[in-house]
Amino acid sequence: MTVRVRFAPSPTGYLHIGGARTAMYNYLYAKAMGGKYILRIEDTDTERSERKFEISQIEDLKWLGITHDEGPDVGGEFGPYRQSERGHIYKAWGEKLLDAGHAYHCFCTEAELTLKNEIALAEKRDPQYDGKCRDLSKEVVASRQAAGEVAVIRFKAPKKAYAFNDHVRGHVVFPEGMVGDFVIIRANGIPVYNFAVVVDDATMKITHVIRAEEHLPNTLRQLMIYEAFGVTPPEFAHGSLLIGEDRQKLSKRHGATSVNLYKEMHYLPAALLNYLCLLGWSHPDETDVFDVHSLGIMFNLERFTKASAIYDIIKLNFINGQHIHKLPVETVLGEVEKVIPAEHPFHKMDHAWKMNCMTIFREKINLFTEITSQIDVLFSLEVSADAEYIDAKSWETTPKIREYLEIEIANAKAAGKKFVTEEDLNNWSTHVKGELKIKGKQLFMGMRAVLTHQAHGPDLKFIIPLTPIEILEKRIHL
Ligand code: GLU
Repeated sequence: MTVRVRFAPSPTGYLHIGGARTAMYNYLYAKAMGGKYILRIEDTDTERSERKFEISQIEDLKWLGITHDEGPDVGGEFGPYRQSERGHIYKAWGEKLLDAGHAYHCFCTEAELTLKNEIALAEKRDPQYDGKCRDLSKEVVASRQAAGEVAVIRFKAPKKAYAFNDHVRGHVVFPEGMVGDFVIIRANGIPVYNFAVVVDDATMKITHVIRAEEHLPNTLRQLMIYEAFGVTPPEFAHGSLLIGEDRQKLSKRHGATSVNLYKEMHYLPAALLNYLCLLGWSHPDETDVFDVHSLGIMFNLERFTKASAIYDIIKLNFINGQHIHKLPVETVLGEVEKVIPAEHPFHKMDHAWKMNCMTIFREKINLFTEITSQIDVLFSLEVSADAEYIDAKSWETTPKIREYLEIEIANAKAAGKKFVTEEDLNNWSTHVKGELKIKGKQLFMGMRAVLTHQAHGPDLKFIIPLTPIEILEKRIHL
């Protein structure tokens, strides 16, 4: 059996990170099993579905490296891959159910059903459909239709319990009577989600449905429909729900929830995928940082976790940092060039300097956008207001260091140097220690205070050789 899985987004908005996670799990499972991963666009909600969202979702999936084998843009032998183009298939499959007596035309009006619902609720009864149209004869249906009455197609929900084995949830039982006869095709011919999904999954030969837990209740209706068609249902794996720190379903109030926003914020797609993968699945080596695309056969359905996964941006940022730290310096440079403001002096520096700079600063960032504030220490003329800095400035030893360094920097500049070296820095320390007799904290914090106007920061041997000499000169005179 060739594994065939699908991701079936509705194009009613931008790709949600929860959707990206589902897409990735399906994609990874197909890769692990040598199967096929299908993209199906569920656009039956004609009012909310828009082509621009389909396009942007496909783009975002591509950005993440989740590429489908079949789909509306690439085709495939089981198309069309947009539900809006499959009306004829739903119609034919709806007729199969009508013919076999598993479904019937229902002429009840919205107003009638609403009233019955209200009464049932008031009487504390389950507001299931009462079956009024269940046994209408073919002739009655034909004559009412001929008279212009519109009908929905309603499924005869069997009165019995259903059960299935979920790869994540284990043995799931739906007791008898949970749903009444439900609509599968609306009066306008548009299929209802649970029906369209079964028809599509059956005709597209889907073998495994991997989706989030929120779809678990839908599985009952879907199992009923599979049974009526005499089709073996696919295997199911309902992954964990994505929630915010307040344990509510993840939504915009929790921050950025769509993939395109992470793209705009210059996150690494590999890091976003890595983090999303951990939200509901665990690596066999128990590692948190890995390349999702290299998982191969390590990805399986047995390592899914049941518990809801809390979306934690701090962890995402940490993982993004871990991925940045492993990137080639050249790549990091290419990325930071995009985020450092155009007027920043960084852009005027030569390539070798930039590469040295990134060798040092790549380690210090979790996000590319943090680079500008990090490299400030190389260019800033700001004087810290920090109490420790003010203290260091007030020591009687500090002006002596300043006087000495003023001469050293002036000499270096006069000799045509654009930067001082690590060796210069070592010589200065030796001099301050040996000749000026300044040691310990007075020495290293005093040098830092004079050269950077800060009390703390990265190791001087890394940052001073990268600081333009004019900046050092200005700082000395401030
Ligand atoms: N269109 C559904 C959604 O976006 C897909 C549900 C399913 O995977 O069965 O949630």
